[in-house]
Amino acid sequence: MKYQSTRNSSLRMDSVQVIAQGISAEGGLFVPTELPNLRERLPELLKLDYRALAKEIFSYFLTDFTAEEISACVDAAYSAEKFDGEEPVNLKLLQGQGALAILELWHGPTCAFKDMALQILPQFLTRALRKSAPGKEAVILTATSGDTGKAALEGFKDVPGVTIIVFYPRDGVSPMQKRQMVTQEGANVSVCAVEGNFDDAQTAVKQIFTDPQIGQKLSSQGKLFSSANSINWGRLLPQIVYYFYAYASLCRAGSVKPLEPVNIAVPTGNFGNILAAFYAKEMGLPVKTFLCASNRNHVLTDFIRTGVYDRRREFFATASPSMDILVSSNLERLLFALSGGDSAQIARWMNDLNTTGVYTVSEAVKNALQSNFYGGFCSDDAAAAAIARTMREQRYLLDPHTAVAVGVYEQYVRETGDSDTPTILASTASPYKFAKSVLSALGTPVPEDEFEAIEALEQLSQTKAPAQLRALKGKKARFSELVPKSGAADFVLQTIGIGGR
Ligand SMILES: *Cc1c(COP(=O)(O)O)cnc(C)c1O
Repeated sequence: MKYQSTRNSSLRMDSVQVIAQGISAEGGLFVPTELPNLRERLPELLKLDYRALAKEIFSYFLTDFTAEEISACVDAAYSAEKFDGEEPVNLKLLQGQGALAILELWHGPTCAFKDMALQILPQFLTRALRKSAPGKEAVILTATSGDTGKAALEGFKDVPGVTIIVFYPRDGVSPMQKRQMVTQEGANVSVCAVEGNFDDAQTAVKQIFTDPQIGQKLSSQGKLFSSANSINWGRLLPQIVYYFYAYASLCRAGSVKPLEPVNIAVPTGNFGNILAAFYAKEMGLPVKTFLCASNRNHVLTDFIRTGVYDRRREFFATASPSMDILVSSNLERLLFALSGGDSAQIARWMNDLNTTGVYTVSEAVKNALQSNFYGGFCSDDAAAAAIARTMREQRYLLDPHTAVAVGVYEQYVRETGDSDTPTILASTASPYKFAKSVLSALGTPVPEDEFEAIEALEQLSQTKAPAQLRALKGKKARFSELVPKSGAADFVLQTIGIGGR
């Protein structure tokens, strides 16, 4: 399988290059030149367990990895011990709520769905580097608004030949997210706060990536920068697997007949998770409609309804912070697919977005978009109401991100009358990661202390908080550095032991 760029369709790259490099030189994102059609093989694939299914699907895309290498990646990433059970994901059928199946993607080490990709990316990346840049050591730089940082740290901790440095905005992560990061174990990890918000942290990291002087210093030491960012194909590919797996689970439960279509609802930020579902459909999974759920930052809802992408709007900090985003990077890959691979057109739209903050897609792309996607959004209040209602009627706890998707699903059913199509709804975080916010949605007193909030939520819901969150209580902070935006580069150089500038 070869890969091209969304901004240069004549480019041809191998999977190891694509994973090692992360982003194409002209700024586009890597996409496969073709997708395998698994429709014929579906009945057979649907019998596989998670790890076997992952190995099958990866084998189509990672053609310069051997079957043994792919197998080793999968077994190391999705072990029962890391994912708290036999299968890494879990499907919960809710009673009475139309035909809703909650796909729990948060049973990994950091209790957010990003573990599904960030546990296996280090496996892919270290092998890709060994093949495409032998002898080099990787320095992974990541700016995070919360969940990515912790998931990347867990994924890369103590991976030989890799150093990982995470920058988080001092003013932009939740107390639990900060605690998860500053207590991180591992000899090769560093965590540093940056003064300002997520944009400041992200800008600082981008500047380091593109500083030729730093690049040279690094290279003379046999090192190179790499990214754990969600634009890396190695992060997107693993997410395709769980949509096939969820469909298989519904077939096994008798909730759908093989080849009967389902809807897929996803709480969306950077458009990675829902794009993986779209690729699954392109590969033969029977999907009727994708429900793209946004919070108050509903740039995607507006785009799906009008064909105009307009980032020129106020940014709101919401109760679902991992979806607070105005530029959804992976949308570029969808537009490439819907425009029939018109990379010149994509480059123009992305240039418009950069220079003017807005672009308008063609009628044809808009129609293709609307025939696949339903866009909706949910305020913090409406999401809180969904948490309370689901607890009351189903005795099931939702986190604030998943609640946004439940709210949008209900809106979809009201608007379209489609309450019959079985719907897989991606649940992206453990409610215990946002205990205070969930307690407040349930209308009960909210303790000041994060761990008291966790205990209160345990009592109220009669469920158990994930052990990895409870264990943070007594844990010592290892990292307390705080730098201004301009100090990030020196922090990186010092961390990897090549001094200041
Ligand atoms: C990252 C994240 C999302 C958004 O996923 P995208 O792939 O960026 O659309 C939603 N919910 C949670 C909890 C997340 O961490």
